[in-house]
This record gives sequence, structure tokens and C-alpha cells, in this order.
Amino acid sequence: MREVYLDYNGSAPLDPRVVDVMTPILNDGIGNASSVHRFGRRQKAAVDDAREQVAALLGGRPSNVIFTGGATEANNLALQGAINCAPIGRSRILISAVEHASVRQTARYLDELGLAKLDIIPVTDGGFVDLDALEAAIGTNVALVSVMAANSETGVLNPIAEISEQAHAVGAFFHCDATQMVGRLPFDMEETGADFVSTSGHKICGPGGIGALIGTRRSLRHLRPIIHGGGHERGLRSGSLNVAGIVGYGEAAHIAAEEREWESIRVATLRDRLTASLKTALGSVYEVGDIGHRLPNTANIRFEGADAEAVVTNMDPVAVSTGSACNSGSIEPSEVLLAMGVPRDAVFESIRFSLGRFTTREDIQIAVQRTVEAVEFVRVMTRECA
Ligand code: PMP
Repeated sequence: MREVYLDYNGSAPLDPRVVDVMTPILNDGIGNASSVHRFGRRQKAAVDDAREQVAALLGGRPSNVIFTGGATEANNLALQGAINCAPIGRSRILISAVEHASVRQTARYLDELGLAKLDIIPVTDGGFVDLDALEAAIGTNVALVSVMAANSETGVLNPIAEISEQAHAVGAFFHCDATQMVGRLPFDMEETGADFVSTSGHKICGPGGIGALIGTRRSLRHLRPIIHGGGHERGLRSGSLNVAGIVGYGEAAHIAAEEREWESIRVATLRDRLTASLKTALGSVYEVGDIGHRLPNTANIRFEGADAEAVVTNMDPVAVSTGSACNSGSIEPSEVLLAMGVPRDAVFESIRFSLGRFTTREDIQIAVQRTVEAVEFVRVMTRECA
């Protein structure tokens, strides 16, 4: 049986068109983009084109794109950089209960060091930020509100324009980790009012290890670097630029901007076919999160009575993901699903299917077949061993 990859939210495959633009840079792209000689200037011109492509996908300004080594670094820069620059009396940071670890752990770190006071805003059982809870928690002592656009585990979308408005009403900055939403649904920095936006190359069929923090002219003046050195990227991210990665990321952004609209319709149709087939073939199948407000490519599905790790292992060579993490040999439940009030047992029975550009109808047929077989097998084994 051929391999089927349904873990695009983990990392999407590199688009061959991206490889095509990266290859000449890898082969012939000589020189440091900061050098003034002709080789350096050529590299810089390629980076500048990519800066425009990335900015265009988000509705930001090219000069406000700060290239980083991925969204993890962009999130670290936004949180640490904004807190390190916050005026006295504004030391609180608010994040949602379902943020990616790179936001959650950075915020916890700032709190532990006494650099910020962290408050976590709960989410509804649908998986999005509870706006009333945010309103109750927010105040003029808040420096930064950080809420993701779309959740990687459930695909659930947050009301980011409203959250941005609440943050601005008290004079706080709004950071949005848009890593999963960008390239899949329209995202416009100006419309959302975000002051800082994090994105990543490998979620949009670009290379891994490259991403960006996009700010505004004003917000970037209120940011301190976390990586110090030669003053690259407006002094906010030192280090010689990864030109091939940046050019690949730019091309991936360009393709996403061109193809996102019809791609999302095609992918949503496949995703809905997958979930409908699973529900028809198996009993006690439930979707997790608000299915009316989520990414077109994601389905988080609970198969009651079947341990997700066991199902995933038996689904090979179909690749999907559980939100649980293996820490020091024990399986930790997904913090995202727990925060949504999903009971612990159910968390361990939930699987994320995430589709994308290269997913075909045949992939979905194979995935349905393998999932049904695996769930039935695990359910029988569980009953027999009970
Ligand atoms: N934020 C979100 C929402 C993500 O899904 C991910 C990747 N899983 C990241 C940040 C980190 O991105 P990167 O791998 O580029 O560091």
C-alpha cells in the first residue's frame, strides 16, 4: 500500500516549484546578502523579492518583514521582544489557553523570570477564545495580548479582529500566531489590526527552518531583539540571512496567494468526505471543536473506545497525528483539548487529520480504509483485554 501523508499541520511537503527557485540559489547563490559586492547585492535582491512576496500574502509592508528561523523564533521574538521593551507599569501578558508551545512556554518563561505577569485566557468548548473572559482580564497594565489565528490541533479559528480591538482599547499590542491560517484562509494584517504576526515556511509547502515576524512601523519600534550581533533585519534579528530558505519561503507565499482560494475549497471537500465516510463506517465518531469555524484542511476526530496512539500505529502507512506528546516515556494529553474541556479519556482517543495541496481522492479512500480497520481492530483488542 502506498504512503499517505495527512499531517500537513505538522509540516507540509515542499512544493516542487519552490525547489525550482531554491536550487539555483543553492548551486550558484554566492555571497552574503549584507555584502556590498555584486555577489552580495544579487543575494540581497533575491531576499528583497521574497520579502515582498511574504508581505503580500499577509497584507503587510515588505520593510516590516523580519525573517527568522521559523515561527517558534518569531513567537519568541514577539513575546520576549515586546515585554523587554514595555514601559514600567505595563508588565502583563495575556495568552489563550490553546496557544502553541512556542508562545505558551515563552510566556511562562517570562513569568517565571519575573519579567512579566502571565494570565491565561480560557477558551469555550468550541475551542476559541472566550471574549468575555478576555474583557474581564484585560487592563491598562497589559503590554501584549497573544492569540493564534487558527489552532494547529483542531483548526478552530479565533475572533482575532475582536481580540485585537480589545487589546488596542487598553493600549496593549496584539500578537497573532498566524502560522496555521496564513496560506489557507485570507489573512490581512490591516483588517485584523494585528501589531505582530508570526508565520512559517514549512506550513505553506515552503522550506522548514524559515519564518517571519511581520510587524508595523510603530510596533517594530517597540521591540527589542533577542538575538544580538551584526544588526541584520532592522537590528531585530542578527545573523547572515538564509537566502535559499528565504527565496523558497517567498515562492511558497506567492503560490499560496495565487492558489489558496480554490485549493481551500478542494481540500475542504476532501476533508468533509473523509469525516463523512468515517462516520458512516464506524459508530461513536465525534468531531472535536467548532466545525463551523475552522481551517478547511483540518479535522480532529474522536473515535470513542479506541486509544489514539494505538490507532495511529495501526494506520501505517497513513500518517496522521495525535495531539498528545511523549515526555520522558509517558504520554502527556494534549493541553489544547484539555483546555477546551474535553474529558481526559476522550483526549487520548482524538486524532488530527490535516490535508493539503497534494492530497488526492485516492489518498482519502486509503485513509478511510486504514482508519476504519485500525479503529475496529483497537476497539476489539480493548474489549478483549478488558
Ligand atoms: N505556531 C503554530 C500554531 C504552529 O502550528 C507551529 C508549528 N507546529 C509553530 C508555531 C512553530 O513553527 P516552526 O516549526 O516554524 O517553528
